[in-house]
Amino acid sequence: MSALLEIRDLTVEYVTEARTVRAVDGVSFTVGEGEVFGLAGESGCGKSTIANAILRLLRDPAVIAGGSVRFRDTDVLALDADELRAFRWRQVAMVFQSAMNSLNPVMTIGDQIADIFTTHERMPHKQALARAAELLDLVGIPRDRLRSYPHQLSGGMRQRVVIAMATALRPPLLILDEPTTALDVVVQQEIMAQIKDLQRELGFAVLFITHDMSLMVELSDRMAVMYAGRFVETASARTVFADPRHPYTRALMNAFPPLTGPRTRLRGLGEGVRFRRIPDLEQVAAGHFVAPVGADDLQTAVMS
Ligand code: ADP
Ligand code: MG
Repeated sequence: MSALLEIRDLTVEYVTEARTVRAVDGVSFTVGEGEVFGLAGESGCGKSTIANAILRLLRDPAVIAGGSVRFRDTDVLALDADELRAFRWRQVAMVFQSAMNSLNPVMTIGDQIADIFTTHERMPHKQALARAAELLDLVGIPRDRLRSYPHQLSGGMRQRVVIAMATALRPPLLILDEPTTALDVVVQQEIMAQIKDLQRELGFAVLFITHDMSLMVELSDRMAVMYAGRFVETASARTVFADPRHPYTRALMNAFPPLTGPRTRLRGLGEGVRFRRIPDLEQVAAGHFVAPVGADDLQTAVMS
């Protein structure tokens, strides 16, 4: 099976005079056509840095220090500026963290969606507006909202608009970076259901980024757990939940207790867990890979 997206040994550093932070440290994974691949891990572990590297959105002081990003037959890291413009939106579209706040406040929703078609497909404005209306249908927003400004829409509606925009050119891959983090729990569930419906209907693959393990298992086929710039465990989402092997994976799952049942004290994530600096994950079962953990590490994690 050929992969849609193939990341090999990706290493990204933030280089400043004071110090160099290796935010992504030799990460490898693939996403198949139509597959939902999840990246889980606490804030600061490098998830968004991976997303930004895939779309070549990293800015100074970030440097891609090594590795490769392939999308079908394209060497993404070798694209020039023109090729990048054609690649973004059409091949890979991204919904950023808090994207709903990135809509232009002085432009109507309709004009903003239409802009994608006029810019990327040189479509006449009237036709582009008709396509914008179809996109609103797709995410269950009444068409008369085309004339609304972002502030006239709820946060959940604005997030739907942003997700609809990402699907506008039917890209084979969507990157969703914490797409529901800024929303309350009820709206969060509505947006998750919307994403699932769209994914089933349109068949795009998703790189789904979240620190919330319960959302992760809801959407993802396969997933990876990240800690401090590295993968510590990767397998089908179901396997990670049923049979988590790495102490950090277990700690992360304990950080999201079920909504019902007795309250337990949250454990400090990863505090005191020391990982051996071994780049390769060990295969523990078919499709299930785990970073080697020293006996000491295991003990600290269990006691923490
Ligand atoms: P996540 O999305 O998992 O929360 P990020 O990819 O945003 O994590 O950040 C990973 C790490 O990269 C951070 O812990 C931080 O140390 C470093 N980092 C991110 N952005 C910058 C920046 N602009 N300058 C320096 N370091 C940064
Ligand atoms: Mg992030």
